[in-house]
Amino acid sequence: MIGVVSDPVFMEHDTGGYHPEEPMRVQYIHTLFSDPPEGVMLIDPVEASEDDIMLNHDKAYIEKVRNASASGRMVSLDPDTVCSPRSFDVALKASGSLNKLTEMALSGEISSGFASIRPPGHHATSTAAMGFCLFNNIAIAAKKALSLGAKNVLIVDFDVHHGNGTQESFYNDDRVLYFSTHQYPFYPGTGALSEVGGQRGKGFTVNCPMSYGKVDGEYIAVYRYILDPIIHIFKPSIVLVSAGFDPHAMDPIGGMRLSSECFGAIAGIIRDASADVGAPVVFTLEGGYDMDALRDSVQNVIEVMRGVDPPSVNPLEWQELDDLVAMHRKYWDL
Ligand SMILES: [Zn+2]
Repeated sequence: MIGVVSDPVFMEHDTGGYHPEEPMRVQYIHTLFSDPPEGVMLIDPVEASEDDIMLNHDKAYIEKVRNASASGRMVSLDPDTVCSPRSFDVALKASGSLNKLTEMALSGEISSGFASIRPPGHHATSTAAMGFCLFNNIAIAAKKALSLGAKNVLIVDFDVHHGNGTQESFYNDDRVLYFSTHQYPFYPGTGALSEVGGQRGKGFTVNCPMSYGKVDGEYIAVYRYILDPIIHIFKPSIVLVSAGFDPHAMDPIGGMRLSSECFGAIAGIIRDASADVGAPVVFTLEGGYDMDALRDSVQNVIEVMRGVDPPSVNPLEWQELDDLVAMHRKYWDL
């Protein structure tokens, strides 16, 4: 059973009239679940406690977001990131809902999950809002999973942007492996191949920077040749996915050229490798700013998680792929 959180409450985080991270994003996804397909169970949103948010964020920063919302105005917390009167409560619901799916996946109540939530999270650091993100939903969920007894957690991030906040939260940690494919160089500037983690976390940050314009087969090569073996070696207790759909060819922000089907193919690789090691998979929405592409891509992911055969995409070799494999082979038997 796939647990899905998809609820109109996530439209209430108001980013103003001309912001790409707009409420309609989750409305488009919501149309997929108005009559939920077989195997999908809708789960009500749950608010995170302040203690849960504090798993990854400073108390002073949480107060700052609370006060920004309480001011009753729209406040800019960073050049790209606004906080409006409902934002604090909606952000608590976003994080709490992902935590709920994580908890249900760990206990076996659901076999996988998808949180169609906003605001997104992967740019938020422990002390600051950034890149449309208030609280780092996936970092909080990973820490929640550890607190619930998970031995280790894999975070896969296929958003076109590097998840700088998530990487920072686990850079020196060998219990949470952060894997990211992202356009590079690009916002936010982090995610170089040489950023592999520090201290006991060395090797547990797996960055796969990709120059702009990559197509389906080039992405699938990275997931097939790098992520798939790492899942089999690392054997995570749970896989959390920062599902950003902005590498889509139609996306107005990203510069990649993926089809909607490619997200299903990526989900298929994650699904099958995770099943081999007995790990449930929970997706959480990050970016994706073309409405039709976003809805169609999410539909492909949901279909694959329902057990449908993934769209077939043949891996394509590309120029810098050898560099990525050579770097990560220092730490993993690829
Ligand atoms: Zn993004």
